[in-house]
Amino acid sequence: MDWEQLRRSTNVQDRRGGGLGGGLAIGGGGAILIALVSLLFGANPGDVLNNLTGGGSAGQYERTPENDRNADFAARILGGTEDVWTDIFQKSGRTYQPAGLVLYDGTTSTQGCGGANANVGPFYCPADKSIYIDLRFFREMETRFGAGGDFARAYVIAHEVGHHLQQELGIEQQVRQLQERSDRVGRNRLSVLLELQADCFAGVWGNRTADVVNLSQADIREAVNAAAAIGDDALTQGRASPDSFTHGTSEQRVAWFTRGLKSGSVDSCDTFSASAR
Ligand SMILES: [Zn+2]
Repeated sequence: MDWEQLRRSTNVQDRRGGGLGGGLAIGGGGAILIALVSLLFGANPGDVLNNLTGGGSAGQYERTPENDRNADFAARILGGTEDVWTDIFQKSGRTYQPAGLVLYDGTTSTQGCGGANANVGPFYCPADKSIYIDLRFFREMETRFGAGGDFARAYVIAHEVGHHLQQELGIEQQVRQLQERSDRVGRNRLSVLLELQADCFAGVWGNRTADVVNLSQADIREAVNAAAAIGDDALTQGRASPDSFTHGTSEQRVAWFTRGLKSGSVDSCDTFSASAR
């Protein structure tokens, strides 16, 4: 994957090595705040790693060439999503307002979603329309989940952008209203449908950007592997009830990501009607 071909987004805030970060340990407080916010907003903080806390990516921050390269990578993937979604929105007479991306290390603050803590993994904050990521998560994907590779990493960012799209399209707000009227099982089911749709949107982006970055079959396998590795059933190793799933099984995540990737069409990502059938 030639991600260097992508334009670097200007919507990136680099807070690495500064502010509230630098290994200042807020502990679980940030995660709890975010969990509360997620109940209120139907957001999906700590999205990818939502079942895992205390994962230990907090700690002393050191600026390394690897981290800087990941920062460049993240900015370019975001830029790539902006170009694709701007185009898709334009064709349906809409204007795409891009999401922000905040790079931080350890802990940081959000505007409206409480404190961010690296332990909860990358997430999208609907209140400030920004994606938060501690770049060391990329290494964790590789070491803890065996989910390495550029396109696997790109998928994580594109998935978060998918949540931003849901916000821009009013889908997230509608689902939040439905969730307010649902019981726990119903809320979880709706959460899964939102997550699978974000996976599908990530796939659509992959389809539209494949030629620009020379996406190979090996790249695609990496992303599919990542989608499988972070399924709720994989993360809980079969110990949890499917009713408690909030992001979908490995099989579902792979299926919806692949569906978007093959079709390149937003219309193929209607997880909500698909589940009603
Ligand atoms: Zn998500």
